[in-house]
Amino acid sequence: MNLFKRNMIIYKTPEEIEIMREAALVVSRTLGKVAEEIKIGVTPKYLDKMAEDYIRSQKAIPGFLGLYGCPSTLLISVNEQVVHGLPTDKPLEDGDVVSVDCGAIVDGFYGDHAYTFEIGNVKPEVSKLLQVTKECLYLGIEQCNTSNRIEDIGFAIQQHAEKHGYGVVRDLVGHGLGRSLHEDPQVPNYGRRGRGKKIQNGLTIAIEPMINMGTEKVLQLDDKWTIVTADGLPSAHFEHNVAVVDGKALILSTFDFIEKALAEK
Ligand code: MG
Ligand code: MG
Repeated sequence: MNLFKRNMIIYKTPEEIEIMREAALVVSRTLGKVAEEIKIGVTPKYLDKMAEDYIRSQKAIPGFLGLYGCPSTLLISVNEQVVHGLPTDKPLEDGDVVSVDCGAIVDGFYGDHAYTFEIGNVKPEVSKLLQVTKECLYLGIEQCNTSNRIEDIGFAIQQHAEKHGYGVVRDLVGHGLGRSLHEDPQVPNYGRRGRGKKIQNGLTIAIEPMINMGTEKVLQLDDKWTIVTADGLPSAHFEHNVAVVDGKALILSTFDFIEKALAEK
């Protein structure tokens, strides 16, 4: 990583934001394909291969594969796994909740977003965790405008999650996005109102609440990738890519492909 770039936000031109939208939409469509295929008995490795083939068919490049030594196109985190789960051969089971995170590069710019899927019959309290985490994402996005500062995003996410008694992961955060997967600023899912850098037009970030049913504390497994909850309770993760245009949040990614596929199942 380029250390001299720390604390330097790279604002994007409208043309660059259009390319980022293309990259985000490759990911959105890939997650739509995942939504079509994901079910009881399917293996994370199968989904990973399918996603890689699809991204390449779109003349894009898998964004995670090889980055920081990442061995896969998707990061697939099941139940108590929060994020960064590596795809395995273990078939998905009835009642699992599965976060699928995907990156793609188009003309040098990254898209990066995630959705947590329900497999078969999920316990109502776990389903509720997913619903509230998705609400957190959109509440955070609403705060991403030029009247606000970066921590206003996390403040909104934290308030909503904690109102439901959930733990807001502190050790991993959202981030600036562009020609690098992780740019400044960091976008924590917690914060104080009115703190942090002022939000300006041209800001491009990934907002990604990671919300735990129990403790906010997380651990890393020996594979040096998978992050799990310290208490073994489930976790949820939803992520969108957002640009600030005309003072407001413009969501570059979409869950429409996912939701259409799930509705047709
Ligand atoms: Mg991601
Ligand atoms: Mg991200």
